[in-house]
Amino acid sequence: MTPSSALKAESPSALETISRNPRIRIRRSGPPAEDAKCVVYWMQRAERAVDNPALDVAIDVANELDLPIVVFFSAISNFPSANLRHYVFLNQGLRDIEADLAERGISFIVRRPPKNSLEALLTELRAAMVIGDENPCREPERWRSVLAHRLKIPYWTVDADVLVPSGLFPKHYFALHIFRPKLYAHFPTYLVKPENPKPVRQWQRPPNFESFDVKEDLTEGWKHLDRTVQPVDYLTGGTHAALKRLKDFVANDLAHYQDRRNHPEKAGTSHLSPYLHFGHIGPLTIALAVDQALKQKVITKEAYDAFIGEVIGWRELAVNFVKYVPAYDSIDCAEPWAQKTLREHARDKRDPVYTLEQLEKAETYDELWNASQMQMVKFGWMHNYMRMYWAKKILEWSQSPAIAFENAVYLNDRYELDGRDPNGYAGIAWAIAGVHDRPWFDRPIFGTIRYMSAASTGKKFNSKLYIRNVMENEPPPLLT
Ligand SMILES: Cc1cc2nc3c(=O)[nH]c(=O)nc-3n(C[C@H](O)[C@H](O)[C@H](O)COP(=O)(O)OP(=O)(O)OC[C@H]3O[C@@H](n4cnc5c(N)ncnc54)[C@H](O)[C@@H]3O)c2cc1C
Repeated sequence: MTPSSALKAESPSALETISRNPRIRIRRSGPPAEDAKCVVYWMQRAERAVDNPALDVAIDVANELDLPIVVFFSAISNFPSANLRHYVFLNQGLRDIEADLAERGISFIVRRPPKNSLEALLTELRAAMVIGDENPCREPERWRSVLAHRLKIPYWTVDADVLVPSGLFPKHYFALHIFRPKLYAHFPTYLVKPENPKPVRQWQRPPNFESFDVKEDLTEGWKHLDRTVQPVDYLTGGTHAALKRLKDFVANDLAHYQDRRNHPEKAGTSHLSPYLHFGHIGPLTIALAVDQALKQKVITKEAYDAFIGEVIGWRELAVNFVKYVPAYDSIDCAEPWAQKTLREHARDKRDPVYTLEQLEKAETYDELWNASQMQMVKFGWMHNYMRMYWAKKILEWSQSPAIAFENAVYLNDRYELDGRDPNGYAGIAWAIAGVHDRPWFDRPIFGTIRYMSAASTGKKFNSKLYIRNVMENEPPPLLT
C-alpha cells in the first residue's frame, strides 16, 4: 500500500500531502484520533533535536492538526548488546536534546523501566498520532512492527538517519560502484538545508508529570546492565559535541582527508561515527557542511569525493545491506562466490587458533593487532584501516569463518561506541565474507576473499608509533 492510498479514504488531505514524503512509511493508517491533545514523536534512533526529519514531520503534522507536539524517549535497560559505555554516551546526548527542544518550544519526556511504556504514554497524553524514526536492524525493526499491530492510532515512521531515503532503493546492491550513481542522483533533492519548523502550539506539562531528569544517571539501579565496559572520556556524547567535532574536522582535517585517512597513527578522520550511530548528528548536517567547504574552496573536489564516498556512499550502502539481507550479522550473508571459496578452504590448517577470550584480551602474537584491539577496548573507537586488518586476522585465526564472524560481531558491538550499527555488520561482512567486494587471488583459509598481511599493512603507516600510543594510553588523535 502506498502512503497516500493508505490514508486517502479517511484522512484530511493536508496530512495526505505530508505523507507523500518518500522518507515516510505509514505503519498504521487511518485518521488521527478525535478529541486528541497532542502528537507524539517517539524518538529512538534519531536522538537529536536539530536537522531531524522525523521531528520535523511530527511538527508539521501537529501544526496541521493544530495540536502541540511532545517528544518521548523510552529508555530501555536491556537494549541488545548495550553496556555502560554506550548508555553514558546516550545519557550525555539526552541533555542536548532537552536543551535544543526547549529552544524550539517542545517538551521532552523521558521514562525508564518499568514505567516507560509508549502505549501507556499515548493514552495518558491522548495522542492523535505517533511519529517515529527508522532503524533497519532486526530488533528495533521488530519493535516497530509489533507496535504498528497494537496501536489504535496512526503510526508513521520517518527514515531520518540517511541522506537519501533507503526505501527509494528496492533491493540490495552488491557493490558501491553500482549503488553510488543511483544514490548520488538524488543529491539535488535531498542535499538541501532542512527547515527545522517551529511548533505553533505548546504543550503545557501538568505539574508532577512523570519524566526522568536527564542530568541524572539513566542507568541507576539497573541490576543487569553490563558495567564492565567503562565509559570513555576522549569523546563526549551529544549533538553539541558532534557539531563542534564536525566544525573542527572541516576546518582542520577535511582538506587532507584523502591523504591522511589511512594513517591510524595520525589525526585525519572525523571521529563522527559514534555520533552518527546514536543519531546525535545526521548525515545531512555533515554533507551540507562538506558541501559548503567545497563551495568556499576550503577543500578540493578530491577531498569532497573521498569523504562523501564514506559518509554517504559506504554508510548508506551499509543501511541498504542491513535492510535487505536478513542474515546481515552472520556468515550466511556471504554471496554465493564467497560461500563457495570459504567452503573450499574450510579444512585448511589454521595456526594459531585463538579463542574469543584470547582475542578479547589482545593475547595474540601480533602486536599491531593487539594494539588495534586495545584501542577499541580502551577508547571505544578503532581506526578504519585497523578495523579492516583486525577483522581479517580474526578470520585467519578462527576455527571457521562462521566463528570468526560471530566473534568479530561480539567484540565490535561490545566495545565500539559506534557498534551495533549497520556499518559494523557491513564492515565485518566486507572483511570476512567478501560482501561489497570482489574475488581476489586464491590463498589458504581466505580462498578468494581479499587478504591483508601484517608485513604490508604495518609498512603503509608508522605502525610503531600507533602501537606505542595505544599501549601508553594515548587516545586516538583528534586534530592535526
Ligand atoms: C571490520 C569493520 C568494522 C566496522 N565497524 C563499524 C561500526 O561498528 N560502526 C561504524 O560506524 N563503522 C564501522 N566500520 C566502518 C568504519 O571503519 C568506521 O565508520 C570509521 O572508522 C569511523 O571513523 P570516523 O568517523 O573517523 O570515519 P571517517 O573516515 O571520518 O568517515 C566519516 C563517516 O563515514 C562513514 N564511514 C567511514 N568508513 C566507512 C565504511 N567503511 N563503511 C561504512 N561507513 C563508513 C562513517 O559513518 C564515518 O563516521 C567498520 C569497518 C570495518 C572494516
